[in-house]
Amino acid sequence: MIVYDLECRTGQHRFEGWFKSSDAFLRQQERGLVSCPQCGSGDVGKAVQAPRLARKGNQLAEAAPAPRRQSPVPAAPTPPTPAPMANAPLPPQAVQMMQALAKMQAEALKSSRNAGESFVKEARAMHYGERDTETIHGQATLGEAKELLEEGIAVMPLPFAVIPPEQAN
Ligand SMILES: [Zn+2]
Repeated sequence: MIVYDLECRTGQHRFEGWFKSSDAFLRQQERGLVSCPQCGSGDVGKAVQAPRLARKGNQLAEAAPAPRRQSPVPAAPTPPTPAPMANAPLPPQAVQMMQALAKMQAEALKSSRNAGESFVKEARAMHYGERDTETIHGQATLGEAKELLEEGIAVMPLPFAVIPPEQAN
């Protein structure tokens, strides 16, 4: 196994990718299979840093404590936030699954408007019929999300932070 520090050229998000070999990385990169877990961009390259060889053997034994749970709110209040990280190797299937998930989120949000900080206000206005409904996403604190749920307004946490378009460069 080889681990690369990768960087998406769209948003300069850094993340780690685990590959069988450097060839496997190049093949996956060529086919656009390597995508940024933060913004789903497939324009991913190696960050400027030498690759490290993953140690064989007791990787699992040295596994870190479970990563802290993200607050179940639509997006973090201070984007762009770093992606959740683990310092233990993830199985390639898990990495691929997360990349697929990031893509799916990006796909799903295409038809959704980023309401940013006014997400809570707008979601509430729609619920109470004060304005036309549409699909939006944005930021809410844990407390705000709870309030919305208590009022019967369906909100869902997103698996990955959403980078506002104006910060995506
Ligand atoms: Zn990115």
